[in-house]
Amino acid sequence: MTERTESEPETNSAKERPVHRASAIFARARAAAESLAGVPVHARLERLARLRKVVLERREAIVDRIQGDTGKSRGDALISEIFGVLDNLAWLESHAAKALHERKQQTPIALMGKTSWTWYEPLGTVLVISPWNYPFYQAIVPIACAFAAGNTVVYKPSEWTPLTGLVEDLLNAAGFDPNWVQVAYGDGAVGAALVEQGPDKIFFTGSTRTGKLILAQAATQLVPVELELGGKDPMIVFDDVDLRRAAAGAAWGALTTTGQSCTSVERLYVQDSIYGPFRQALVDEVARMVQQVDSDGDADVGAMTTDFQVKIVADHVDDARAKGATFLTGADWDGTSKLIPPMVIDGVRDDMLIATEETFGPTIPLIRFSTEEEVVQIANDSPYGLTASVWSKDLERARRVSRALRVGGVSINNVMATEANPGLPFGGVKQSGFGRYKGEHGLHAFCNIKSVLVDKDSAKIEANWFPYTAEKYRLFSAMMVNLFGDSPLRLARFALAGLSLERYANRVAKRGRE
Ligand code: NAD
Repeated sequence: MTERTESEPETNSAKERPVHRASAIFARARAAAESLAGVPVHARLERLARLRKVVLERREAIVDRIQGDTGKSRGDALISEIFGVLDNLAWLESHAAKALHERKQQTPIALMGKTSWTWYEPLGTVLVISPWNYPFYQAIVPIACAFAAGNTVVYKPSEWTPLTGLVEDLLNAAGFDPNWVQVAYGDGAVGAALVEQGPDKIFFTGSTRTGKLILAQAATQLVPVELELGGKDPMIVFDDVDLRRAAAGAAWGALTTTGQSCTSVERLYVQDSIYGPFRQALVDEVARMVQQVDSDGDADVGAMTTDFQVKIVADHVDDARAKGATFLTGADWDGTSKLIPPMVIDGVRDDMLIATEETFGPTIPLIRFSTEEEVVQIANDSPYGLTASVWSKDLERARRVSRALRVGGVSINNVMATEANPGLPFGGVKQSGFGRYKGEHGLHAFCNIKSVLVDKDSAKIEANWFPYTAEKYRLFSAMMVNLFGDSPLRLARFALAGLSLERYANRVAKRGRE
């Protein structure tokens, strides 16, 4: 199953090498798609059930591998990756067969006597390209969704967190044919070579910059692309909240996976009248945290995964400091260590990088607001639109603000919670991408949704078929006026007009123009 497109195992020092094997990978995937077409949905879901059991059994070894590649805390690896994977697999087992079952759709009265259906068929071979921040979750969940829908998958992990061999071992233990899911290791050049093969769909998770490159390349072959990209997610805290809970939520939302999450809290808007006490509650919360790449689960925040992301955080921190921000925690960071301490940042202005660009690190920029209108305007004033959270006891206000936010998901009085429900679709708007995955919408995104209309075989000639005559024109027009007009008797009149039209249509078809 493993197809190495580079001769060395991937490490952070791996160099780009030419790509030779992408077409062989796709040839196998396409051939396997034909054989997979004979595997019914219940048999596919049975493989996913086996995969769930294997992941559960091997969870500690998987956590070791995730930590080895990412430097996360053990808690982050278990809670955000392993639990998320199990939860999504379990959802697919329970719901995918129903979601993918053919559905009878309404047939309008003008098509009386026929039935209408939608069938949910595989697309063929899906290319999944993933980032480094959740290397296990971002491997298994998209693979499982695409596979449940009946597709073969070519999966390209990030070169920074390849988890080499792990996905193949787990799928093998779960009884997957090696060509149903193939793993293609390598960097962006390998990704581009895979895109060039013209997959039936590309499911990309990563940066907005790379998403645009992939979209441009895929456009030349008209390959559909789903883009799950970056974010600068706002958390909005109104003055009627439980301070302690909201501060704990903010700390977790900003710092889980050391802030390297696409839906991390990256802008924390707090209403004027509680700004001081909330800031203190947040500082207290952060001061209690333990940071370590631990071996027993007894640490909150781990390390950063890559040096290049450390550099981005350092640039944002330097910019904020130079423009007058105050660091209430983490002020002593040396600017290079991967163990970046969580930073609560006060005095943040909207001309600072930390307030506008994706930082992807353990930073919590605090920003005051006074009115609902103001906070909606500043929260929306971002090129990104992934998720947001709105905190208030007043649920009517929270819903109103949530509707006004231009994002793909909102958690009310919670944080990063929409993605915790595998039944809810996930995705963004604006520069955060497009398309939705997970849940029923997400499964359908991996399908060719085929529309089918079934009529009986008979001698009947349809009224809209040739020949067109002046009389048919008159009768059709009368039928149309009755069908779409506002008369209370319209349906009865439509039935009469329809009958005359049908009689005439069959007569003129048999005898020819009179
Ligand atoms: P990235 O864009 O640098 O890389 C992502 C993947 O794309 C990697 O596998 C990489 O090798 C591959 N790639 C790079 N260039 C390519 C090319 N030209 N053609 C094909 N593939 C190419 O992103 P990253 O640094 O790995 O991940 C961090 C980003 O991902 C952040 O912006 C984060 O917000 C985003 N992200 C989004 C979501 C989401 O669901 N919206 C989830 C996680 C991460």
